[in-house]
Amino acid sequence: MKFGTKAVHAGVEPDASTGAIMTPIFQTSTYVQEAPAQHKGYAYARGANPTRNALQKSIAALENAKYALCFSSGMGATDTVIKLLNQGDEVITGNDLYGGSYRMFKRVYERLGIRFHFIDLSNAENIRNYINENTKLIWLETPTNPLMNIVDIEASVAIAREHNVIVSVDNTFASPYLQNPLDLGADIVMHSVTKYLGGHSDVIMGALATNNEKLYQELAFIQNSCGAVPGPQDSFLVLRGIKTLHLRMERHCLNGRLIANYLRNHPKVGKVYWPGFDDHPNYAIAKKQMRDFGGMLSFTLKDDSIEKAFELMKNVQVFSLAESLGGVESLINHPASMTHASIPREDRIKNGLVDSLIRLSIGVEDGDDLLADLDQALAKV
Ligand SMILES: *Cc1c(COP(=O)(O)O)cnc(C)c1O
Repeated sequence: MKFGTKAVHAGVEPDASTGAIMTPIFQTSTYVQEAPAQHKGYAYARGANPTRNALQKSIAALENAKYALCFSSGMGATDTVIKLLNQGDEVITGNDLYGGSYRMFKRVYERLGIRFHFIDLSNAENIRNYINENTKLIWLETPTNPLMNIVDIEASVAIAREHNVIVSVDNTFASPYLQNPLDLGADIVMHSVTKYLGGHSDVIMGALATNNEKLYQELAFIQNSCGAVPGPQDSFLVLRGIKTLHLRMERHCLNGRLIANYLRNHPKVGKVYWPGFDDHPNYAIAKKQMRDFGGMLSFTLKDDSIEKAFELMKNVQVFSLAESLGGVESLINHPASMTHASIPREDRIKNGLVDSLIRLSIGVEDGDDLLADLDQALAKV
């Protein structure tokens, strides 16, 4: 089955008791048993819920996975992967991770005795300099936030295989529509479902998917033991959101391309970070592992200052100033003062996160309106 058909149908069966075409919201905490330990696969809703199960089947299908698990947030999903590890284990990961992942690794798990190497992954060969007998996990994120760097998933997996190390990929920015890390050899794929999968800025949720039964059993055990599960209402909303994932992604990509090219030719704009430009440093890898280039991009102003960036963000009318991404609405944000404010200015600038850097999550509005909005906003700065 192709992607759009899976997005509409996978996981959703007509309700057995009524024929309802859409999976009901099973708002229940427990299930009545016929005799002790005799039930229909549902005993207590931390362990399993039919609405959640339908969603898990849907996400598994989109990632070409046998198994998926949904969590109360993206961080809840990431937390569950790290809990596979033991004290003394080491993790190799990127140096431009999602800030929340960096914070969890650094401030929660280093304290508990797990060691993280935050390295430049723009060349996967760099992994060889850090891998050793304690390395148990490689945690990748691609494209990265906000500079849209691309990590070669297949090349990273090849090195991991030589050392029997698990590879987990945060696929939030690409969504399963653009990239399927398990097909490229990764062991686990993670999503902040909050973003493209949910797609309507109304749910916080996470997911993991895998083809490895042993890993799945371990992850499901940790999930049920630690309890970061989503509720049935949220599961329903995401199940509904996914039915249009392919349509939304088509428009996100179309609008992304339009705006990336517009900004690149604007006299007041400095650099534009978008993996679809053929002079992007990892364009060849992006083209190989992604089906299109998505709706996320960042840019700087030639007149590089926080004041100018703030002015621009005040001038926009269709774009909303907000954190998050992947929803139908276009969002604008300022990493230096919002998502990446905790990084010291010098380090930030050294890594390309200059004062005027602006990140856009391009929504599914009419492209012409988005262009006109940026055009009038840029004219005034
Ligand atoms: C938002 C995000 C997360 C965290 O997900 P939550 O659902 O907010 O907990 C992780 N990784 C990436 C790339 C994200 O954008």
